[in-house]
Amino acid sequence: MIGLIDCNSFYASCERVFRPDLKGRPIVVLSNNDGCIVAQSAEAKRMGIARGAPYHQNREFLESVNAEVFSSNYALYQDISNRVMDIVRRHVPRLEIYSIDEAFLFFEEDQKREGLERLAASLRSEVERCTGIPVSLGLGRSKTLAKVAERHSKREGGFFLLSPEKEEEILRETPVHSLWGIGRRKADFLGSRGITTALEFRNLEDWWVKKHLTVVTLYTLWELRGRSVISAELAPPPRKEIVSGITARTPLTTLSQMRQAMARHAQSAAAKLAGEKAVCSLISVSMNTNRFKENYSQSYKGLVLSRPLAYPPDIIKAAIDAMEEVFRPGLPYIRTAVNLGGLEPADGLEGDLFCSEEFRVSEERKRRLSLAQQEVVSRFGRMALVSGATGMKSKADLMNRDYLSPRYTTCWEDIPSCL
Ligand SMILES: [Mg+2]
Repeated sequence: MIGLIDCNSFYASCERVFRPDLKGRPIVVLSNNDGCIVAQSAEAKRMGIARGAPYHQNREFLESVNAEVFSSNYALYQDISNRVMDIVRRHVPRLEIYSIDEAFLFFEEDQKREGLERLAASLRSEVERCTGIPVSLGLGRSKTLAKVAERHSKREGGFFLLSPEKEEEILRETPVHSLWGIGRRKADFLGSRGITTALEFRNLEDWWVKKHLTVVTLYTLWELRGRSVISAELAPPPRKEIVSGITARTPLTTLSQMRQAMARHAQSAAAKLAGEKAVCSLISVSMNTNRFKENYSQSYKGLVLSRPLAYPPDIIKAAIDAMEEVFRPGLPYIRTAVNLGGLEPADGLEGDLFCSEEFRVSEERKRRLSLAQQEVVSRFGRMALVSGATGMKSKADLMNRDYLSPRYTTCWEDIPSCL
């Protein structure tokens, strides 16, 4: 069985830990510079307050409903997340942290239902008692089913074990657009073919899904049938985060290999960030050994950035610093990834009113350098201008490509010889 643990309305719950008087009151959390709403408590969601909405347009309404408004405090959220994950790790040794407020838990195949229920109950109560954060937990035969179970658990008091006998009934009432990995676009396409529930989707034929959608969507279908096939690498990125990672052909065991890998991921995550015209306030790195082998372990470190970042070399440095804190030499890491969180629009961040002139000039220089890099990369390809920290290797150098044909047309060494 696989579990998904999720902290309920995480940012708002973190604020409530130190303000118990806010119990039952709507809470919203704003982006840096208090520009827009980035998180809401359940009460605020019920009032129709949307994520991403500009604060100034909603200020009067928020006042009228007696909502409490907070500027985002990522240092607090990351610290509480670390505490929650540490407690979970004590109960379940096989853990894959998925985002700042979610983790997948792996249980033994033969674990009995009663044992799982007991474990879930003590895990949830310990997290809430020690950190003040309410969590929900769903269990299913695959990650996708665990996600479905977690969603359903919100109606069941925070815990739901989706047994195979219950799957049909629960999938019938699960809208297809709420499935993990099925975005709005795919759901619209499926809807146009009359498929609106997860059960209708599960009953589709493999060839049809492969023909009209993607292979990863086919994996989602298999997962709904109880086959666990979505590895950390295939998992869709968490909402509100940018992920760049890879599962390597041969395990990475040394610090220098890991520095290069993290630099590469950070660089490509920074490029995606630039594409979205956003900045990030949180960065986390994860290094996993093979989940299907013994002694599975994940090294994970989340860092709070002292200010929002967008400049790729700054992001690369932060990723390497985070990695060095938790790297354990000799462990056969195969999956490595960098996540950027606390995302928000880059514009509107003029910097601190009181920052020095020197700082302002250096920020402006970084901004212009980033733009120049993007220009070079868009004209000459992703590898045209890269950070030296990456070891000048591309993602492809790490992948399984034993059957690759020579680069006949682009590499001197591979040009066919006719003598
Ligand atoms: Mg959550």
